[in-house]
Amino acid sequence: MGLLTQGKPLSWEETKKYAEYVRKHGILQFIAIYRKLKDRQDQYLRWGDEVEYMIVKLDHSNQKAKLALKAEEILKIMNEREEREGDKRASLWRPEFAAYMVEGTPGSPFGAANDHTAVLSHFNCVEDSMRTRRLEVEQLLAKDESLLCLTSFPRLGCPDFSVPRLVPDPENSGTGSLFFPDGAIFGGHPRFKLTLAQNIRKRRGRKVIINIPIYRDVNTKDPFLEHFNDEEAEDSARADHIYMDAMGFGMGCCCLQVTFQASNIQEARILYDQLTPLCPILMALSAASPIHRGYISDRDCRWSVISQSVDDRTKEELGEEPLKSCKYRINKSRYDSIDSYISEEGAKYNDIQLVYNEEYYKQMVDAGIDTLLAKHVAHLFIRDPITLYREKLDQDDEHETDHFENIQSTNWQTMRFKPPPPQSSIGWRVEFRPMEVQFTEFENAAFVVFIVLLTRVILTYRLNFLIPISKVDENMQEAQKRDAVSRCRYWFRKDIITHTSPPEAAACVEATGCPSESNICNSNLDESCILMSVNEIINGKGNHFPGLVPLLRQYLTSVEIDAATHCTVQQYLNLIANRACGNLMTTAAWIRKYVTGHEQYKKDSKVTDKINYDLIKTVNSIVKGETVCKELVGDSPFTKARILRQQK
Ligand code: ADP
Ligand code: MG
Ligand code: MG
Repeated sequence: MGLLTQGKPLSWEETKKYAEYVRKHGILQFIAIYRKLKDRQDQYLRWGDEVEYMIVKLDHSNQKAKLALKAEEILKIMNEREEREGDKRASLWRPEFAAYMVEGTPGSPFGAANDHTAVLSHFNCVEDSMRTRRLEVEQLLAKDESLLCLTSFPRLGCPDFSVPRLVPDPENSGTGSLFFPDGAIFGGHPRFKLTLAQNIRKRRGRKVIINIPIYRDVNTKDPFLEHFNDEEAEDSARADHIYMDAMGFGMGCCCLQVTFQASNIQEARILYDQLTPLCPILMALSAASPIHRGYISDRDCRWSVISQSVDDRTKEELGEEPLKSCKYRINKSRYDSIDSYISEEGAKYNDIQLVYNEEYYKQMVDAGIDTLLAKHVAHLFIRDPITLYREKLDQDDEHETDHFENIQSTNWQTMRFKPPPPQSSIGWRVEFRPMEVQFTEFENAAFVVFIVLLTRVILTYRLNFLIPISKVDENMQEAQKRDAVSRCRYWFRKDIITHTSPPEAAACVEATGCPSESNICNSNLDESCILMSVNEIINGKGNHFPGLVPLLRQYLTSVEIDAATHCTVQQYLNLIANRACGNLMTTAAWIRKYVTGHEQYKKDSKVTDKINYDLIKTVNSIVKGETVCKELVGDSPFTKARILRQQK
């Protein structure tokens, strides 16, 4: 979750006073990085994933599954180990928003610094790296505790959801939540995360409001409307929605992210753009969070929950009141899909109004930054900093970047364009952020490898996936819906070969059984962008679109890759292909089926403690390799073997 800074966070009142100061210096810092590093070249691909986990306790005697607030204890041990082991460390562990969450990344990024072929063979290391991470933490857990990749914990915010047991204190707590106690927020660094939550609330002038449509079952109350004995909640909760009121409901969800280093700034900008249309598609495919605060929702993904949970816009910025003390109407939360493409090719697809700070924009353009990139940064910089440390105020703008990072890392968007950190040899990177996390290492590795491989194909064949950015936004809304893989359709580009594509690209498309002429980029936007299902996008649509998996398989025949890696990657692609066509279920669909099929489910959309316990116990046995869940991963012996390795 961005950079960690030591010290004591300032109050909101003080932070607000310094907002303009932070932005000003942030822009100077960005200009300095740009000037110094705009020509940095990195020959080889480097990349790494981030997996977030929840620490769960199974209370067998009471048949309850709870979240164990132990992250701090575990991270203390992990961080000591990291310091001792230095470069030899197998993994890195970082705090996340909640006291029951940890984030694990590989000890160092995949991809070799000096060898092209090793890049591909690293596809065969991801899953083991993830497995090692899990085992490292599991060794520190009690017998009835587990480390699980759950995107949303079904009973988060229900009474008694944590150990130790905490009771929310709406009157005296920082977030004022009726459901999510401050103690469930990660402690560490003098309550850094609590300050974040508190300041979002203070900036907005009221508590955050999260409403997610309820899944209507035959016995669900009609209308579904809870009563909270709290004025703010009564006003905020919408009929037929699950109401939540704290940052923890969103930032307390887990996800799966991938960061790639591009060979230079141009390539990073291309990847940032080209992967943008993939965000909703991969979100729908990885959907894993159908339940919130003990109720089944009509959404399968976490995205809008988080987006609402950190929405710090004031009524003026939201357009509910005329602009007086605020500067802009802002059409999205800080946590949302991106608003503009940043590569040259992307510019013509920027069709939504971009709110940006004109003064910073001009300053950056005057400093030699092109208009597209300057607008992107000036857009991020419409936000206020939400936490700040007195110790970090005074910065050397030529050599430090904390003020830039402050704003950058609290713009939580589907994609992130990351400049090189100061004093490092790291290059220009791009982060892919929309995916939900899957139960097993096999599945998480499949999603990560799929995306990394796709970047190789995009760059090698110079493909073009761009569609108007307003259509990506439409897709984001569709992608979160219940069973969005099977029930929704998405705008997607069908003609993806460009005039700069090498002949191999056309050959590759033809080898998938799709005529390459119809896949040459059409300058008519309306014709190039059509509605397709996830299945058609991933597996192909007759002679209209070759499909991403067939393209990747074809690409793999043209590169040097060792047999073992090849075999593993094929299994990953099988998983993605089968999820897309419905042969396998998404994690969200599987969770729904489990809950609604539970003998104690009363068809009232409620997920009781007992249902939750049985669900989490089953997930735990899947993760431990005691059960292979055919509906999620199929039943090939290869897959089974890989999942079973988890226990070793
Ligand atoms: P965040 O900005 O999300 O906090 P981190 O800096 O923690 O991201 O790293 C995210 C991922 O980037 C990790 O998987 C890490 O291995 C990977 N990574 C680190 N250095 C590089 C690099 N030079 N190029 C590509 N990925 C890198
Ligand atoms: Mg994280
Ligand atoms: Mg990240």
